[in-house]
Amino acid sequence: MTPGFFQKILLVDLSQGTVDEATPPPAVYRDYLGGCGLGVRLLYDRMSPGADPLGPANVLGFVPGLLNGAGVPFGGRFTVVGKSPLTGGWGEANCGGHFGPVLRAAGLDGLFVAGVSPRPVYLLIDDDRAELRDAGQLWGLDTVETERRIKGDVGRGVQVVSIGPAGEARSLIAALITDGGRAAARSGLGAVMGAKRLKAVAVRGSRRLPVHDRKELARLSREYARIFRGEASRPSRLLFRLGRAFAPVMRRLRMKPSGGPTEAIVHVYREYGTCSGVALGTEIGDAPVWNWRGVGARDFPLDRSLHISDDAVIQHQVKRYHCRYCPVGCGGIVRVEGERYGVQQGHKPEFETLLAFGPLLLNGDLESIIEINSTCDRYGLDTISTGATVAFALECAEKGLIERRIAHGVELSWGDAEAIVELVRRIARREGVGDLLADGVKRAAERIGKGSDLFAMHVGGQELPMHDSRYEPLLGLAYLVDPTPARHNTASSGVFDVPSLREVFDAQGVSVPGRYEYGGKGALLALLNRYLQVVNCAGLCMFSLLMGRPPVREWINAATGWSLGLEDLLRVGHRVQVLRHAFNLREGIRPDARSLPPRAVGRPPLEEGPLSGVTLDVETMRRDYFRAMGYDEATGVPTGELLVLLGLSQVAEDLKEV
Ligand code: SF4
Repeated sequence: MTPGFFQKILLVDLSQGTVDEATPPPAVYRDYLGGCGLGVRLLYDRMSPGADPLGPANVLGFVPGLLNGAGVPFGGRFTVVGKSPLTGGWGEANCGGHFGPVLRAAGLDGLFVAGVSPRPVYLLIDDDRAELRDAGQLWGLDTVETERRIKGDVGRGVQVVSIGPAGEARSLIAALITDGGRAAARSGLGAVMGAKRLKAVAVRGSRRLPVHDRKELARLSREYARIFRGEASRPSRLLFRLGRAFAPVMRRLRMKPSGGPTEAIVHVYREYGTCSGVALGTEIGDAPVWNWRGVGARDFPLDRSLHISDDAVIQHQVKRYHCRYCPVGCGGIVRVEGERYGVQQGHKPEFETLLAFGPLLLNGDLESIIEINSTCDRYGLDTISTGATVAFALECAEKGLIERRIAHGVELSWGDAEAIVELVRRIARREGVGDLLADGVKRAAERIGKGSDLFAMHVGGQELPMHDSRYEPLLGLAYLVDPTPARHNTASSGVFDVPSLREVFDAQGVSVPGRYEYGGKGALLALLNRYLQVVNCAGLCMFSLLMGRPPVREWINAATGWSLGLEDLLRVGHRVQVLRHAFNLREGIRPDARSLPPRAVGRPPLEEGPLSGVTLDVETMRRDYFRAMGYDEATGVPTGELLVLLGLSQVAEDLKEV
């Protein structure tokens, strides 16, 4: 057996009702590690191009990261993979919680589900036993209730990932949910699960991951985890308040917040999680406002944004929680009692959610956002895509392209919290106008027509996240060229300005250009892509990169017994990124034909605020990126030499016709 792996994956065919095991060869693990890497290798081989994303030929994979089960800090994330019904290309959604490590503890490196069940089922994996169970009684239930019932039936130690009514109704912005509110949200993979009539996967396991050197893993983890102990990691709140007070100055000077000292970052993530920085981000131009045509300081100033940021959110937190192996615990449960929504108890809204239902919609009502977050978790919706779709609908209503009135006494207008809550409920249930919107902005714009595509904020069908590309052009490039477009975590704003990545850049001789210097951005993103793929495949939380220097390479080597250097790992990351890209090319998606929406490019530029006058030079960045990745500079197709170098010669055959 290869240390670090069980060398076992499960292959489920829902059409046939069969469950089989397979043993990937050791070379596959060495070349792709785990998580999304193992996922793309398996799906590339097992799927033919042209498969209907909602049909039986699509394969939905649940793949733990390599380090899931190794017990290292932050090493608990898994990836859901499949062909995305939103983009028609490579689909992927990364998720925390406890499901990935428990899937690993069942002795599995991955689970791949094909076919369509004739009736609703859920899959139960209990160590070596796997069976499809009737889910007739669960169909129609929300994700929280589904999880509760399965846990009640199966007993202690079981972890569940499920879809809610939105996935069942094949809403293309549907998510998978675990732990009552941790989402594998992007790429519309909840719709794929719904189309398969697979309500949930429940797993319980008791195996210990075989690793090469457990003592060394523990030593590395102990050493790294020092930064999470002691008083040094709890600086005064004053630091944070100062940052807030300086927001207007930062806006005027077009300053960027940098990572800051590790102690401060750990403190902020522990104290606030990702709800910190919502007001700051809005003020300085990082957050898109008013469906990307607004200016934070003018249209959603600090006196409004502070109501949905930092302390305003945290005052409602009744409990913190951690993903498995996490020394920080950025998650939280909030509780609010009010007249409008009664007693609300659910997951704390994340940064992206607060922005998607806050400044993007000019909504400063926190209670409504907590209610919406809970609705999205329970129905199983991607909050980013849902917020972007609501923004699109509000602009359509403003322009007279859809009916303003959606219910008795409820009219769509910017900042109207009640109308927004009602619209989200309708999207979740596919009711009335909600049915028109439930497949995201691209489909809605196609149905509505009349020029609405101009303000449908998506790339290739995936709704844009809540970081403005005019504020961080590198992100704009990432939104455009990544095989899963419109992702904030492919080059997250500010993330590259931290010691853990700086040392990778330095080792590779790649410099970080100024914010509006377009030359050199492509090379930076190409390197980031390669490294971040390694982090993802290892199953590490991306936030770990903000906190000191997680020994990623050393952990992987101690777990597996390999002696991989940085170059070797970057080659793995490169291979994974290229295969994800090739998956899309094989589907006929042309990387040179994709575009950012005009507002995201700054066409026309904003006339006020910190982003005034900014228009991105997309073509320079894209050409640079293609070159740095080893693609043809004009078409974005990988060169034959690159494919040979990465051991992907067979892919060259597939791409001959492209
Ligand atoms: S930092 Fe947050 S998202 Fe990351 S592993 Fe910890 S709890 Fe999970």
